[in-house]
Amino acid sequence: MPELPDLLSITQHLQRRILNRRIVSATIHQPVAIRNLLGEPPEDALRDLFFTRIDFHGPFLRLTLSSTVEIVVHLMLAGRIQHQVKGDHPLGFKIIALKLDDGTWLNICDEQKMAKIYILHPGDYTPIPGFNEQGIDIRSPGFTEDVLRQLAKQHSRKQVRVFINDHTILSSIGNAYADEILFAAKIHPKTIVASLSPAELQGLYRAIGEVIEDGIRHVAGAGQPIHLKVRDHMKVRNRQGLACPVCGTKIRREGVRGYDVFFCPACQPVRRKVFIDWSKPPGGENSAGA
Ligand SMILES: [Zn+2]
Repeated sequence: MPELPDLLSITQHLQRRILNRRIVSATIHQPVAIRNLLGEPPEDALRDLFFTRIDFHGPFLRLTLSSTVEIVVHLMLAGRIQHQVKGDHPLGFKIIALKLDDGTWLNICDEQKMAKIYILHPGDYTPIPGFNEQGIDIRSPGFTEDVLRQLAKQHSRKQVRVFINDHTILSSIGNAYADEILFAAKIHPKTIVASLSPAELQGLYRAIGEVIEDGIRHVAGAGQPIHLKVRDHMKVRNRQGLACPVCGTKIRREGVRGYDVFFCPACQPVRRKVFIDWSKPPGGENSAGA
């Protein structure tokens, strides 16, 4: 799934390349992935509109057209957006293809057919699940260490991995960067938020900023086409069985609420036993402090 650094890179690329361009034609390939709220066919409604603003909100890419129409894209797990210029092969599994007045194409594609595209009047976001429920923007000036402490207090019973990955609390940290942030903060993903010390919360706050900004720099520096995900800077994500870059221990994968999480069991040790393991004899290493 494209995460914040990816969406920022996509947004900035499209701002440079297609802002003020006109849509010559729109071709719908997968009507089932499109929710059109305009009341007229998108092929007619989109023709001759200009891209006047390009930005993103949480995991949603927002393309504003002539200030009268918005296309909101949720790429989900495998959706991709391609700015196809002369000589490029178009990606497969297109949902919609927009031909622009400079001869290039904007293709939105998804081989898993989970991505969703909303075509609507500006500001009418109610039909988009999750759009109006985004939490605080983690790159906004309002996201201070104090705010994180307050949020942690409100969500003290959650596992920390669930807490930072919840877009209604923090907007937004996806699965890959959530793993990287907890690795940087040296916190086990299943740690209960209430058990984090003030110093650990401070470390978590710093790690959120540093890991996201580092990701932004890395994605920008990679110079890849916007339909490719840049992940080679990741230290634990999708690296199960490989050596931790800090201590050499093998990276582990575990499930948290149905999601795969990756972590180093040495750098991110379990803080305390939540349950007493009655199968171990008394005096064994697992009984101490249980
Ligand atoms: Zn390690």
